[in-house]
Amino acid sequence: MQHSVSKQKEEGITERSAWLRMLSVVVPLYNEEENIGELHRRLTDVLSSIGLNYELIYVDDGSTDGTPELLGELSRTDDRTVVLILRRNFGQTAAFAAGFDIARGDVIITMDGDLQNDPADIPKLLSRINDFDLVSGWRKERKDPYFSRRLPSMAANWLISRVTGVRLHDYGCSLKAYRREVVKSLRLYGEMHRFIPAVASWYGVSVTEVETTHHPRLRGKSKYGLSRTIKVMLDLITVKFLQSFSTKPIQFFGPLGLGCGFIGFSLSLYLSLRKILFGESIGGRPLLLLSILLIIVGIQLIGMGLISEMLVRVYHESQKKPIYVIKEILGQKEK
Ligand code: UDP
Ligand code: MG
Repeated sequence: MQHSVSKQKEEGITERSAWLRMLSVVVPLYNEEENIGELHRRLTDVLSSIGLNYELIYVDDGSTDGTPELLGELSRTDDRTVVLILRRNFGQTAAFAAGFDIARGDVIITMDGDLQNDPADIPKLLSRINDFDLVSGWRKERKDPYFSRRLPSMAANWLISRVTGVRLHDYGCSLKAYRREVVKSLRLYGEMHRFIPAVASWYGVSVTEVETTHHPRLRGKSKYGLSRTIKVMLDLITVKFLQSFSTKPIQFFGPLGLGCGFIGFSLSLYLSLRKILFGESIGGRPLLLLSILLIIVGIQLIGMGLISEMLVRVYHESQKKPIYVIKEILGQKEK
């Protein structure tokens, strides 16, 4: 074990190139007072052995225990430590986003603050960052309860990989390494941090994964339960919608609306003909209700598509945000 870790470190060092001068490590912490001391010791050990300049960014996500005080202490005694204290508990995604905004490193590493991720895996992630823009950890042997955590997560991973088309084994692993440009262009919402690889890969970011060690939580409590699965599913719907239709929402709502409207119109036409030609009474027929419903839903869906089209324009034009991402421009002359 010890041997393989030091071998990975060497690989990381030999393959590293000149662009990588500084590392930022972002760790979100919510009521983790029992873990901070050891976390900081182990992170410092690993990072100083890598031999690059680094900063440690601890984000206190509105903890109600001794976490902010302990972090304050660390920031005073260690000048490579930066501490962000959020006003209240905003959630892990927001804590990551806050850390990303102030990170100065060329590569930004994220991990959980409960020591379930192992700082010793950082060199392993770094050894791939020269070839990929994003390296994601894969907790191959995950040490969490089976029914409440691993089973739902297996189902979620399978579904996310199908729906987003980004093939990873483990979306939930916080231990990841990003090149600076990747996190600086990301806008995170909701519980979206697990979808970063998927979102990033639409921008053409190259993604790979490496196996990492995972430990059971020894101290402190997990902040999540089964209910997270539902949130993840809802976020997945959002992500899929944005992935496929964010610049052309009418193409999503339009066909549904036209389909409903057409069926509704045909049904009402059929009923009207029976009434006109055969003098049948149609007032009590359930089909009449259905046809009215479908016509209204169809009109609503198309209206929604048109409103979304306007929103897309407002969004992109007000922020001067293009609908493409340029990697680099070659051969442009200075004015
Ligand atoms: N966390 C956070 N804000 C929250 C919930 C969690 O910053 O609202 C942090 C938490 O302190 C830990 C990491 O996110 O460092 C992962 O949380 P946890 O270990 O509870 O998740 P699990 O490993 O059980 O999925
Ligand atoms: Mg954990």
